[in-house]
Amino acid sequence: MGSADRMRVAADICAEQAKQRPVAIVVSAMSKVTDLLLDTLRKAEAEDRAALVANLQNLEERHTQCCMDLLPAGKREPVLEGIRGIIAEFQRIAQGVMMLGERPPRSVDEAVAVGERLSALLMAAYLESAGVPAQAVNARDVVVTDPVFGNATPLMGPTREKARGVLCPLLEKGVLPVVTGFNGATTDGRPTTLGRGGSDFSASILASVLDATDLWIWTDVDGIMSADPRLVPNAKVLDEITYAEAAELAYNGAKVLHPRTLAPLVEKGIPVYSKNSFNRAVPGTKIAPKVDAPLGARAVTSMGNVALVAVEPADPELNSVMVMSRALAALATAGAEVLAMTSSSYRQNFCFLIRRDELPHAMAALETTFALELAHGYLKDFDVDEKVGLLAIVGEGMKGSPGMAGRIFTAISREQVNIIAIAQGSSELTIAIVVARDGLEKAVRAVHDECQLGN
Ligand code: ASP
Ligand code: MG
Repeated sequence: MGSADRMRVAADICAEQAKQRPVAIVVSAMSKVTDLLLDTLRKAEAEDRAALVANLQNLEERHTQCCMDLLPAGKREPVLEGIRGIIAEFQRIAQGVMMLGERPPRSVDEAVAVGERLSALLMAAYLESAGVPAQAVNARDVVVTDPVFGNATPLMGPTREKARGVLCPLLEKGVLPVVTGFNGATTDGRPTTLGRGGSDFSASILASVLDATDLWIWTDVDGIMSADPRLVPNAKVLDEITYAEAAELAYNGAKVLHPRTLAPLVEKGIPVYSKNSFNRAVPGTKIAPKVDAPLGARAVTSMGNVALVAVEPADPELNSVMVMSRALAALATAGAEVLAMTSSSYRQNFCFLIRRDELPHAMAALETTFALELAHGYLKDFDVDEKVGLLAIVGEGMKGSPGMAGRIFTAISREQVNIIAIAQGSSELTIAIVVARDGLEKAVRAVHDECQLGN
């Protein structure tokens, strides 16, 4: 959804597919628009009127320009009016934020969904102008979620009922629904969003409740790769990977899919194709329940924006399992996701890795939970290391192939990169390795080479 040109390509792809079978479309916002909306709300909160006005103007200009580029002269006016109407709604919320001097999460969710509403409006109008019957649909009316604003989870039963009620009649009439990605609403109609990058997740939710035969996610990369090509020049596109592998890669930092995308598809085994709209001839990556893959690792990912927190009892009387369970409960309340966790010697240090932006909340929660133990010296001060990075080697074929870990560690140590913590679950799907941040890129390249994952 980057520009009028990109929308045209997206519309062509959909129209072409719609000739063969019913198609439902999910759109994300135009590129950088969600960031712009969030920034505008922050500016409103800070009472920065000049910035607010400038941002609103920018928002209107981008979509107006896109409309002009996309539609013939006679068909623009109602769409321009639609754009102005949606932006006016956003402006009202932003003004409310300014008056309050704060950004209530549910208002933020209602406001940021505007990006997707604008692109759905434009996309549907373009399809119509090209002779393909289409209708913009606000996912507020089809995706039902819990009330966790900013990171809501769909309620699949109610979503199924609502989505089918709205979308099936359109599909039966041969009208292409253009549904907004990223947003939804609670059972009682309060607007929610599914987390950043959530349009992929919206699409998989709808694929599941519509019993789709397959889901196609069109982006600007050729598919899921064996490593980030900016770090590893000979990284290659993977033809096929399993749901489990794709989910691990997404959770461990590969940016190509929203991490929660695959869960709704697992039960029905709906395959996903990750494809490049700039390079349509390339087959992309198929994500399916099972694939014929070689033994060993499939891909390496990395995350640099993480922190390692170590917890260490100072008193042997302290029940360390209890400390662990309370620490995890504190992290869960703080909404921090544990990316990896390890513990070694009896009654000793255990550590976990979280995203750096979740660190302040997580530390506050830990300090509250253990206020007494810290004050009385039963627990040492938490040790936080922000100069670390996570490397994850993923592959279903690593299960039961001896020597994988040995080769990986040897490759990393050849680069003189120090390994700080290691985690591998018994599913042997992922080996997670925490290394010094400044050695992360080198380690990724070394492992990718050692496992011969590239071209
Ligand atoms: N527009 C939303 C975001 O930027 C959702 C998405 O693009 O998938 O996070
Ligand atoms: Mg996106």
